[in-house]
Amino acid sequence: MTGQPALRVLGVRKTFGDHAALDDVSLDVREGEVVVVIGPSGSGKSTLIRCVHQLEAIDAGAVYLDGELLGYERHRGGLRALGERRVAAQRSRMSMVFQQFNLIPHFTVLRNITEAPVRVHGRARADAESEAMELLERVGLADRAQHYPRQLSGGQQQRVAIARAVATKPRITLFDEPTSALDPELVEDVLGVMRGLAADGMTMVVVTHEMAFAREVADRCVFMEAGRVVESGPPSELFTAPRSARLRSFLARHH
Ligand code: ADP
Ligand code: MG
Repeated sequence: MTGQPALRVLGVRKTFGDHAALDDVSLDVREGEVVVVIGPSGSGKSTLIRCVHQLEAIDAGAVYLDGELLGYERHRGGLRALGERRVAAQRSRMSMVFQQFNLIPHFTVLRNITEAPVRVHGRARADAESEAMELLERVGLADRAQHYPRQLSGGQQQRVAIARAVATKPRITLFDEPTSALDPELVEDVLGVMRGLAADGMTMVVVTHEMAFAREVADRCVFMEAGRVVESGPPSELFTAPRSARLRSFLARHH
């Protein structure tokens, strides 16, 4: 493959007080690639996603989207933080799916999906609505367009949240444990939607403990521990021949 990656994380460090949540983390994600991030609780997976999505300022290193530095601009031989509007504009080229769905409770399902395309991306409401209906069809919820989030199950809410995330046609979609808050019987529907997006060539970074999904869908898998990337590679290698004792013991606990 040639050309620059869609996403480049380079030597990122993020500290909270004197604790390094991310310690020199680097990661490239190519267009159309699905990268699954695994690792124990507290290893920095959410922090990584949040730093990519510009929800946290980083202490060192850099994040690039399609080659563009995020959050900073070059200024007099150094770097200067961008203002909130420009950060928001950069953020609007990515989407994030959260563990807790984060739908807007007083908006209908349809309005939840059309809000960003209309308000942030300036799309005509009628166009945004017809695309939202297509997305709802895809996630199996076309009959719920006029419902409110509280009227849906967790699995249905998460499928709406995924439809909302992709409605803005993001360059990359970041998933942070999208099925961890769901009852077990609802997990598979959500993973099914994500499999479909992956098969369509969507560029995705997925933090998950669903190892079967990782094995089957990931082009590359990244194992983090204590703020560092310990191992990464195709799932066929990582799961069958882990090099580090730490990954071996993690996998033994997550089967
Ligand atoms: P993971 O998602 O892998 O469970 P996190 O990225 O949430 O891990 O957290 C990594 C480390 O950073 C943990 O030690 C966590 O306690 C710490 N951390 C994360 N967010 C904050 C915060 N806002 N303030 C202080 N410490 C934090
Ligand atoms: Mg987390």
